Amino acid sequence: MPASLLAVIHCIYGMHDTRLMIVAALVCATGIYASFAIGHHAARASGSAKTSWGLVSIVASGSTAWATHFIVLLAFKPGMPAAFEPVLTAISLTCAIVGIGAGVWISIRSRQQWQQFIAGLIVGVGVTMLHYVGQAAYLVQGTVAWDLGLVVPSVILSLPVSGFAMVAVGSRNRRIRSTAAPLLLLSIGVLHFCGMAAMTLNSNAAVKFPENAVSPQAITPVVAGVSLALIVLAVFGWRFDLAAKVRLRQDRRRLRELADVALEGLLICQDDVIVTANDSIEFLSGHEPGALTGLAVSSLLPGLDVSSMPEREEREIDLISVEGKHVPVRVLRREVGLGHKIQTVIAVRDQRERLKTEAKMRLLAFTDSLTGLDNRTRFFDHLALHTASRRNRDRSCAVLMLDLDRFKAVNDTLGHPAGDIVLGMVADRLRSTLRDNDIIARLGGDEFAILQLTTDEADAAAALATRIVDIVGSRPFMLNGQAIHLGASVGIAIAPDDGDDPAEIMRNADLALYAAKASGRGAFRRYDVSLNEQMRERRAIETGLRLALAEGQLELYYQPLVDARTGSITSAEALVRWNHPDRGLVQPSDFIGIAEETGLIVPLGNWVMRTACTEAATWPGSMSVAINLSPAQFRDHSLVSHIVQAFQASSLAPERLELEVTEGVLLSDETGTLETLNQLKALGVSISMDDFGTGYSSLSYLRKFPFNKIKIDQSFVRQVPDDAESSAIVQAIITMAKCLGMSTTVEGVETPEQFDFSVAAGCDTIQGYLIGRPVSRADLAVLVAAKCKAEGLSTAA
Ligand code: C2E
Ligand code: CA
Ligand code: CA
Repeated sequence: MPASLLAVIHCIYGMHDTRLMIVAALVCATGIYASFAIGHHAARASGSAKTSWGLVSIVASGSTAWATHFIVLLAFKPGMPAAFEPVLTAISLTCAIVGIGAGVWISIRSRQQWQQFIAGLIVGVGVTMLHYVGQAAYLVQGTVAWDLGLVVPSVILSLPVSGFAMVAVGSRNRRIRSTAAPLLLLSIGVLHFCGMAAMTLNSNAAVKFPENAVSPQAITPVVAGVSLALIVLAVFGWRFDLAAKVRLRQDRRRLRELADVALEGLLICQDDVIVTANDSIEFLSGHEPGALTGLAVSSLLPGLDVSSMPEREEREIDLISVEGKHVPVRVLRREVGLGHKIQTVIAVRDQRERLKTEAKMRLLAFTDSLTGLDNRTRFFDHLALHTASRRNRDRSCAVLMLDLDRFKAVNDTLGHPAGDIVLGMVADRLRSTLRDNDIIARLGGDEFAILQLTTDEADAAAALATRIVDIVGSRPFMLNGQAIHLGASVGIAIAPDDGDDPAEIMRNADLALYAAKASGRGAFRRYDVSLNEQMRERRAIETGLRLALAEGQLELYYQPLVDARTGSITSAEALVRWNHPDRGLVQPSDFIGIAEETGLIVPLGNWVMRTACTEAATWPGSMSVAINLSPAQFRDHSLVSHIVQAFQASSLAPERLELEVTEGVLLSDETGTLETLNQLKALGVSISMDDFGTGYSSLSYLRKFPFNKIKIDQSFVRQVPDDAESSAIVQAIITMAKCLGMSTTVEGVETPEQFDFSVAAGCDTIQGYLIGRPVSRADLAVLVAAKCKAEGLSTAA
């Protein structure tokens, strides 16, 4: 509506006294300042002071609007005499105070923006009433015609503007807040000038003013008085403001002094601007003292939005130091009242030390300190990760579980520190055989595991296992000039064929390792389902054997040995049998190995010892009994005392006992074993080397310990006399034993030819099915009696 706009512009510039307009603007600005300053003071005050200053602020705001309105009316040049109707004038002032007061009152109590807006609308209604009621009180000597085309838009435009003005008053943002006063002024201005322009005045001398009409000259002092009062209030407000600022500055300084004692970095902020920072944060960020003041929080902590971060909630973000370095910090926001003002305190804690410690702890928790390899937990995590991702990508991976052979001997003979060094060397060698993305861990003791991820080629796992067995076993480990010969056994399980979840894969690789060791050391074995069956069987034997010992299911069989020249029975070897309630007679080959691994061989061996001595004591004359001893029995320190007890209980002469040991006994802990053997020999017991020729270093052992007898292993005799090589070996062993002053037994003689060869070779005693199979105690008694009868001897013991 350009015509209306023109009317408004003409109204402003053509019909108003400019000087008075300036006065009106000054009074309005002063009044608004006074109202806000006193209002703020009321907000800071408490008790009755709060109420009184609140009322003063409301009256001041209403009066400001009224006085402004009136000064502008006085500035209006209608071109004819004008006057004021006093009652309506008073009502207009009341409207201003009530409307504006109600709006301000609601605004103070509101939190939401829409509530502030409503409060603003109410203020607007107050101002509108003031204006139009005031307008009605403005009398001219003529007629007044209203242009509704300007009145309605003036209201429609002015109301929302005062709504927004109050929204700005309530804002936390300082910049938005500073727009409140200009918006309010705009709202009043729009209302006034549009309202004035909407009036068309026509002079008419016939029009008479009512009797109580007051001339502009008469009302001017009232307006001046109100304006003066507003100026006085503004001075008060200014002083209140000043005092509050001083108080705020003091509070901030005190807080900063306190904050400097804190180890944590502290920032005191007004909205997003840092007003104070303590020493710690200056140090942390590398800023000069005081340099942080005035900076935006976001320039120091870019990840932090102060206004949206909830109070008391901690966040981990980066602080940007003065050199641009990122420092990990943890921040916490709190609001505190300082000098009646709400300020934000941001506590900043340096996280570098904590993160470093955490990383160190993580490393400790997941690495094997001895070798620097991953530990079991970490390995399991890797495996879990790969089996999980494999499900998506359908790629296989292999777990190789490996265990060192003969490592126990290193610990036993050289001590644990040396053992630790050797483990480190083994770890280095293993590492060198792996591809970059293979993962190796030490699971504990001398057990290692490898997660092989490059399984593209066929039999990649078998190839790696071969490399491992070779790299560990082919060259000795050198420690202090001493060569240590180790070996490795490897069990392989490949996912997904050999198991789907990590625990199952590990279990199956372990089973395969167990089988590899059982099949002879320095070998590898891939898991297959039959291993599960073997494992179950093994467990059944283990539990069954415990029961067998407790319930007397064990029995000793005896196999006779005869003198090679006379053919008379010189002794018998005790061989254990298990009368299993379901399986019938179980042979030692089915349970001795398991008894050795589980340690059950110790109680079993002691039982054999007691029983054999007791039964042999009933045999005729000087006939002796031979008993087999396992390496595990030598590790049990009570071996000698058990044998002595067996003699005491049975009253068997020690000279009638032969103990058979294999090379395995001498392999580990040589010095301890030699000591035990010497103690036994000193008792009068004779010691035989069993299964001679099956080990690889037999000759050196023969030099170390003076055995009474060598039992030549059955494997040689089996091919005698047809195989020239075996015949030569048997002959050589017998000749050598004679030179060393040891007697010989040829084991496993089944044919008359083998018998004749053995006799001709010069052996002392012969054992084998040809002479007699292992038989029960009762059958042995019959056999011995028959022999004795034939030789004309008494069977009495
Ligand atoms: P070993 O000490 O070498 O015992 C000799 C084994 O050879 C016995 O097997 C015996 O039956 C068998 N044998 C004897 N003559 C012949 C023959 O002419 N031909 C054939 N083919 N075999 C013959 P057995 O009784 O099955 O014992 C096997 C192994 O179990 C023993 O081998 C021994 O190492 C172990 N063992 C048996 N009883 C005990 C025991 O009480 N304690 C310990 N620690 N081991 C025992
Ligand atoms: Ca034997
Ligand atoms: Ca033997």
